[in-house]
Amino acid sequence: HFLPLRMGVRVLGSLGVIGTAVSRETLEAIGSLIATAIERAGAIEQLSKTEADRQSEQLRSALLDSVTHEFRTPLTGIKAAVTGLLSGTHLEPAQRTELLTVINEESDRLNRLVGNLLEMTRIDAGAIHLLREPCELQDLVGSALELFAERAKDRPIQIDMPPDLPLIPLDYVLMVHVLSNIIDNALKYSPVGSPIEIKADLQDDQVVLEIADHGLGIPEEDLGRIFDKFYRVRRPESVSGTGLGLAICKGIVDVHGGQISARNRPGGGAILRIAFPLEALKASPSVTSQ
Ligand code: ADP
Repeated sequence: HFLPLRMGVRVLGSLGVIGTAVSRETLEAIGSLIATAIERAGAIEQLSKTEADRQSEQLRSALLDSVTHEFRTPLTGIKAAVTGLLSGTHLEPAQRTELLTVINEESDRLNRLVGNLLEMTRIDAGAIHLLREPCELQDLVGSALELFAERAKDRPIQIDMPPDLPLIPLDYVLMVHVLSNIIDNALKYSPVGSPIEIKADLQDDQVVLEIADHGLGIPEEDLGRIFDKFYRVRRPESVSGTGLGLAICKGIVDVHGGQISARNRPGGGAILRIAFPLEALKASPSVTSQ
């Protein structure tokens, strides 16, 4: 027996029954319940799709806003410096060096921005492929610091790492990316000339790396949220950013099986902490894809 599943005048499908043990009235009642359930499920699906579309639209415009701003600032700096170099026939060597330094630093900033956007897209798509190799933390930190050689030249950088730390199977390139985002923040959010401390340690069964600065620190209520995509604490107002850096750090550290967290230094400033449980690292295959 077949009977239509109706919702008002609309037919949503049909119900086929083998055997005749149930009366036609009972079948119609069951059919009407099924039709209501299908209609409701459809409505819920539509609603969540609309909500997802709304959220992704919101995200897209937030991304566009911050990215446009973030691209424009270094480009404006580069353009002004190039114009200065082209027009200033009587520039002193020191002035030329200053303009070239602007171009150098601002193009690094653009490069970091593009790198972050690419990395975020990969994390969102669940497409991070780890190329693990045994890494020395000293090397990782050294490679990340090299990227800031110019910007950090007036900063005392104190590094404290025991020489006998074990090699850790990490994706070198991605971890340098993580460290460079954290060091970039430490430089951005602390006063010129103030020190940055980088410390690594073996604590119980994990390797812990901490990067501390002497800046304003992070408001306690924001400590848990700064790893969210696009989340920014607008403090100080003048420091620009996209709110993507720490979200990317978290994405990459998570895929490695580690944890990243933030807290404030008792004397003022922020401490970013990355912990890799040795057990999780041992259990991981040498190449992992997600
Ligand atoms: P942004 O592009 O805004 O720097 P991030 O994702 O890197 O984005 O950081 C998120 C927010 O966390 C920042 O807006 C900043 O307010 C805060 N933050 C991150 N690192 C520090 C730090 N070292 N000191 C103070 N605040 C920080």
